[in-house]
Amino acid sequence: MSKRKRPTPVPPEPLPELADAHTHLASCGATTPAQVTEVMDRAAAVGVHRICTVGDDLAESVEALAAAHADDRVYAACAVHPTRASDLFTDGVQDRLRELVADPRCVAVGETGLDTYWITHEPETTAPLDVQEAALRWHMALAAEVGKPLMIHNREADADLLRILDDAPEDLPVMLHCFSSPLAVAREAVDRGYWLSFCGNVTFRRNEELREAARLCPADRILVETDAPFMTPEPFRGARNEPAFVGYTARCVAEVRGVTPEALGAQVAGNARRLYGWV
Ligand SMILES: [Zn+2]
Ligand SMILES: [Zn+2]
Repeated sequence: MSKRKRPTPVPPEPLPELADAHTHLASCGATTPAQVTEVMDRAAAVGVHRICTVGDDLAESVEALAAAHADDRVYAACAVHPTRASDLFTDGVQDRLRELVADPRCVAVGETGLDTYWITHEPETTAPLDVQEAALRWHMALAAEVGKPLMIHNREADADLLRILDDAPEDLPVMLHCFSSPLAVAREAVDRGYWLSFCGNVTFRRNEELREAARLCPADRILVETDAPFMTPEPFRGARNEPAFVGYTARCVAEVRGVTPEALGAQVAGNARRLYGWV
């Protein structure tokens, strides 16, 4: 039986400006300063001059911050992921996370949120929903306290998420990473002034509704991201992702919005700078 060979992924054509609003450098295998620089050199070569790398637990948050200190093109987001939310209520974790979030290279509190997918499919590998809610509320309060945006992970939990976020302080910037919800949720999120970050799945053929969400998102609230190493955009779906590939997603979003890739790139780079306070 012959297996169809996947083409080796290559970065898209360069754009003058771009930003990857949410990625995971450590999960891409970039943990040393030299490895971070390599990934960022490949990204910068196609216009991705700034990225936000995310830590999903205490150890990864430390790594994300280390990367942000090692390379000035990298900024970090720190939190405990909803699937690991139980960790937040173990000894010393909250105090340590508070310290990490106070670091000037940490530009967002996240990813936090709700994930019912794993509760349905492999409940023993994740945290129960009430613990996820408690963790989300804790991160929300922390973000408000330190004045940094809240970065949200949402997998199959739209109604509960919107209910909880309704309790967030009015002026707290909320960013929905890897936006993958139905159009009604996109409209509600836009009405509330949230930032929508589109990921590689916006390029997948069947995801017409996501492209519609990308079309209706106000220009000053739209972002693109890789969420690498997963969710690689077309034409390299299934391959290993990295920040250099965010341009494929940007080009798809530009097309549905009827703007040039250059204009979209400048828009998302400017938005990320504003949301995260990048200098
Ligand atoms: Zn996520
Ligand atoms: Zn992520």
